[in-house]
Amino acid sequence: MASDSASTMTRFALGSLALAVVVLALKAVAAWLTGSIALYADALESVVNVITAVVALIAVRLAARPADAVLPYGYGKVEYFSAVIIGIFIAVAALAIFWETWQGLMQPRLPKAHLGGISVSVLGTIINAVWAVLLLRVGHREGSLSLRADGQHLLTDVASTAAVLIGVLLAIVTGYAPLDAILAGLVGIAILWSGWQLIRESVIGLMDVSVDDKRLGHIREIIAANAEGAIEAHDIRTRQAGRRTFIEFHLVVAGSMSVSEAHAICDRIEARLREAETDAQITIHVEPEEKAKHSGIVVV
Ligand code: ZN
Ligand code: ZN
Repeated sequence: MASDSASTMTRFALGSLALAVVVLALKAVAAWLTGSIALYADALESVVNVITAVVALIAVRLAARPADAVLPYGYGKVEYFSAVIIGIFIAVAALAIFWETWQGLMQPRLPKAHLGGISVSVLGTIINAVWAVLLLRVGHREGSLSLRADGQHLLTDVASTAAVLIGVLLAIVTGYAPLDAILAGLVGIAILWSGWQLIRESVIGLMDVSVDDKRLGHIREIIAANAEGAIEAHDIRTRQAGRRTFIEFHLVVAGSMSVSEAHAICDRIEARLREAETDAQITIHVEPEEKAKHSGIVVV
C-alpha cells in the first residue's frame, strides 16, 4: 500500500516534470516571438515549475527511504528542505521579473501582435489545464494531499496565463504599452506570494509543529479509549516530519503493576494509534502512580 502510493507519486512527479519542460519551451517561444515582458514573466513561472518538479521527484524518493543508523528518525523532513529550495528559486525568478518590469516601465514597448506566439502560449495553457484536472482527480481518488496541491497550483498558473494573455491582447489593441510591464509585475508579486507561503509552511515543519487540534483531539480519544488498566495519560506531544507523525506521552499505572501488564497496555494503544495515523511513531513513558506529575491530563 505505502510503496504503491509511493510509485504513483513518482509516476506523477515524472509526468509533471515532462509536461513542465514542454510548457516551459512553449512559453519561452511565445515570449520571444511577441517580445512581451508579461509572457516572459509567465515563462519564468514555468521555470519554477520545472525546478519544483525535479526537487519533488528527489524528495519523494528520499522521503520513502526507511530510517537507518545515520538518520534514525527517517527522511520525512526532506520535504521541508525541498520546499525551502523551491522557495529560494521562486524568489530569484520574482527578482528577474521585477527587473524586467522596471525596464519595461522606464521604456515601454508594445508587444508584437504575433499570432504564432499567442497561439503557442494558449497551447501551453491548455496542456497545463488538462494535467491539472487529472492531478486533482487522481489526488482525490488516492487521498494524496500533494497531488491535489500540485493540481491546484497548476490551475492558478492557468488562470494567471489567461489573465496575462488577455492583458497582452488589450495592450496591443489599445496601444497602451506600459500595461505589458504592469502585468509582468503582477505575475512577479503572485509568484513571490506563493514562494512565501511555501517557505512559511516548511519552516513551521522544521520547527516540529504539532498536529492540528482536531487530530490531537482524535489521538487523545484513542488513547483514552484503549488505556484500560492504566490510571491516566499526560504530557501528550506530537510532531510531524512530512508524512510521518511522532506521538509521545506519559502513561500512569499502579505502582504494583508488572512490566508485562503495563507493556500490554502500551502495545494496545500503539496498535490503535497506528491504525488511525498513517506512519505513526509512538513513544510511551510508563510511570507509577505515586511518581506522576500531572500536566496536560487525559483522564482515563
Ligand atoms: Zn509524567
Ligand atoms: Zn514494546
